[in-house]
Amino acid sequence: MKEKIIRDAIYLVKVGELTLKGGNIKDFEQRLVQNAKLYLEGTNSKVRLRAGRMYIEGPESAVPAIEYALHHLIGISGWARALITEKNIEAITSAVYSEAIRLRDAGMKTFKIEARRAEKSFPLTSYEIACQAGEAVHEAEILKVNVKTPDVVINVEVRERCFVYGTSITGCRGLPCGTGGRALLLLSGGIDSPVAGYRMLYRGMKLDCLYFHSHPYTSPQAREKVETLAGILARYGVGVHFNCVPFTAVQQRIRDRGPAAYSTLLLRMCMMKTANLQCDFSGAKAIITGESLGQVASQTIENLNVTNTLANRPVLRPLIGMDKQEIIDLAIKIGTYETSILPYDDCCVLFSPKHPVLKANLEETLALYEELEIDELIQEAFDSREHMRFGCLQK
Ligand code: ATP
Ligand code: MG
Repeated sequence: MKEKIIRDAIYLVKVGELTLKGGNIKDFEQRLVQNAKLYLEGTNSKVRLRAGRMYIEGPESAVPAIEYALHHLIGISGWARALITEKNIEAITSAVYSEAIRLRDAGMKTFKIEARRAEKSFPLTSYEIACQAGEAVHEAEILKVNVKTPDVVINVEVRERCFVYGTSITGCRGLPCGTGGRALLLLSGGIDSPVAGYRMLYRGMKLDCLYFHSHPYTSPQAREKVETLAGILARYGVGVHFNCVPFTAVQQRIRDRGPAAYSTLLLRMCMMKTANLQCDFSGAKAIITGESLGQVASQTIENLNVTNTLANRPVLRPLIGMDKQEIIDLAIKIGTYETSILPYDDCCVLFSPKHPVLKANLEETLALYEELEIDELIQEAFDSREHMRFGCLQK
C-alpha cells in the first residue's frame, strides 16, 4: 500500500450539547476552544472549530497532552484520533488499510465503513467510497466485513481534507466550563461534595472551593485530602480556587453555647454565613453542597430549609435526589473516590451529637443561632482563610 497519510496527530472532536444552544452558540463555542487551549499551552497544538466540529492538531509529542485534555474537557460528546489523507480514493484506501491493521492488532475482528462526504465535488459517492476502501481490507483478510454488528466502525469523512478514524471515545459531555457563571462549592473530604462540584462544572459553572478546617481536632492529612480533591476537580474545571477557613473557634463556640442536638445544624448555618462572605468577595452567584435528602439527620427538608435561610445566594444541591450508590459510581468515574475514602476525619464528625434534631423548627433554630453570638468569630475565621489555586494540568 502506498502511504499518502499526513503524519501529524489530528483529533476530531464532536462538541456536545452546544447544538441545542441557539443564540448563545458563538459564546459557548468560543469558551470551549479557549478552555481546550488552556490544557495545550506549550505543546505547539492548534485548536480550530469549523461547522460544529472541533479539530485539535499537533506534533506527535503533543499526543499525551491532547488526550489528557480530551479526557477532561467538559462540553464534548466524543473524540477520535484520525489519519489525514489527500483527497483521492487511493489515499483514503491506504489510510483505511493502516487503520484496519491497527484495529486488528487491538483485537478487533469485524468492521464496516461509514463514509460521509461533506465535500460534494468529490467524484465518488459515500457508498462507493465505503465499498472501494472496504474491499481492500476485506480482500487482504485484515478484518471481515459485518455491516450489522461490527466490532468497529471505520469512519471516512471527506471535508476540506479527508479524515479516517476507527473507534471514537465518549467525552465528558455537559456545557463548557465558564458558560454558567461562578459558584462556591463547600468542599469536604467526603464522597459527596466533590461529586456535587463536578455536576455543576458539568452544567458550565466555574468553581471556587471553601473548606472548613478544625485544627488540631482535624489532622493536616484531612486538609491535604481535600486539597487533592480540589486538584482533581480543577482538571475538569480548567482550574479552581481553594480556600481553607480555620473553624475551630466556631465549632468550640457551638459546643459551649448550643444544645448538643443542634450542633450539626448550627455548624451548617455558620458554614452558610461564611460562604456568603466568600461569595461577596469573589462574586460567586451560588453556593453548592453535596447534601442528599435524608442521607443523614442534618439533611431533612426541614433542616435544609433552616440552612437555606442563612444563605444569601441560591443553594444548589445537585445530589439531592441521588442515592449513595449513584454518587459513589460517579465519584469512581471522575476519580475522586479513592481519595474520599481515605480515613481522615473532617470537622463535621467532631462534636457530632448522638441524637441530632431531625425536623428543626425555623424560628427556634434561628433563636439558638442568635444566642451563639458568633458572627464576629465567623468574620475572624473568614479573614484568616488561606487561598490556593489549582490549575487544570495533572501534577
Ligand atoms: P459524606 O460523603 O461523608 O456524606 P459529605 O462531605 O457529604 O461527605 P456531610 O456531613 O454529608 O459530608 O456534609 C454535607 C455537606 O456539607 C457536604 O457535602 C459539604 O458540601 C458540606 N460540608 C461538610 N463538611 C464540610 C467542611 N469541613 N468543609 C466544607 N464543606 C463541608
Ligand atoms: Mg453527605
